[in-house]
Amino acid sequence: MNIHEYQAKALIRKFGVSVPDGHVAYSADEAVDAAKKLGGGLCVVKAQIHAGGRGKAGGVKVAKSLDEVKDFAGKMLGMTLVTHQTGPAGKVVKRIYVEAGCDIKRELYLGMLVDRATSRVTVMASTEGGMDIEEVAASHPEKILKVAIDPATGIQPFHARQIAFGLGLSGKQIGSATKFILALYKAFTDLDCSIVEINPLVVTGEGEVLALDAKINFDDNALFRHPDVEELRDPDEEDPAELEAAKHSLNYIKLDGSIGCMVNGAGLAMATMDIIKLYGGSPANFLDVGGGATKERVTAAFKIILSDPNVEGILVNIFGGIMRCDVIAEGVVAAAREVSLHVPLVVRLEGTNVELGKKILAQSGLPILSADNLADAAEKVVKAVKEA
Ligand code: ADP
Ligand code: MG
Repeated sequence: MNIHEYQAKALIRKFGVSVPDGHVAYSADEAVDAAKKLGGGLCVVKAQIHAGGRGKAGGVKVAKSLDEVKDFAGKMLGMTLVTHQTGPAGKVVKRIYVEAGCDIKRELYLGMLVDRATSRVTVMASTEGGMDIEEVAASHPEKILKVAIDPATGIQPFHARQIAFGLGLSGKQIGSATKFILALYKAFTDLDCSIVEINPLVVTGEGEVLALDAKINFDDNALFRHPDVEELRDPDEEDPAELEAAKHSLNYIKLDGSIGCMVNGAGLAMATMDIIKLYGGSPANFLDVGGGATKERVTAAFKIILSDPNVEGILVNIFGGIMRCDVIAEGVVAAAREVSLHVPLVVRLEGTNVELGKKILAQSGLPILSADNLADAAEKVVKAVKEA
């Protein structure tokens, strides 16, 4: 799960991470009030969307007066911001953050993530902070400093100093950066984050180290431990199909292909996506209906798959282990009738009561293509989509 910059800053501030003062606003008048509360000095109006790259796209503006705050806020709210992370459709700005302007001496990068390569939380830092860190990582990987933290000890001051020295900080800046990094690590682990990105991490004219931007990604599997974080979810920023799927406890992730997949078990779902690719097709989604897929869940899953206008065919690939194939077949038939299926549907069933399951599909009168195995299923659905 993602949250907005202003929410991320409020969370990390509680752990002692330095961030500038700021207030969220939903209208131009609220933005002016926010600027007044900040003391009326230089302030920055920032579009709040779940995507980076706002600066380059016109979503971050420095305002020198209250009139400018009002003007920028008015223009920004309601605009569709297209950044390199939003995709071409962009995101509509519904909230803005009015933040105290900062006297920037240097823009650095600091990130923390659960690193699969080292099985540790890795702190990453770079002197090349600001707006193009992805580019730096791709073309100059040596400019990214990495320190992996042993979970048994957690982060230690020497780790933080190693990063501070690596960033070329000196004097008072080192103490400020060390405190910052230790506090951020505590926030990362206590909040069960999967990624925290501070880009830019800035050094001010006074030698303070501050977070000017903050992006947090949470581990969804640990969200139950953080109801206060769950409350920060912004439905406007999430894919409506993914929200609907969450309601039915379906693991659904939209992809950009044309073949909808309904599978039980994450491993089988991955294998199904792979084999669709192998046969020249492209999956429209990952969908794991889980072990106890009921007729209701299968129907919900069908509706979600079909709500994607890119779907030109569906592949149902179910292994009846705990579930019986006849129950699944009945669910598929009922769902296909209820949603008035308009694209080819290939079903591959295997496992307990498979013969009965196939009979139910065959006798349904629906144009369901039955497949014998995974390869056959993938070949049939790719062919059906090409011919349709
Ligand atoms: P994004 O990463 O989406 O482009 P950022 O929050 O990183 O958005 O802002 C982009 C740039 O705007 C920063 O690199 C920084 O130069 C400037 N900026 C952002 N916030 C402030 C601030 N409070 N004071 C001064 N400059 C800022
Ligand atoms: Mg940024």
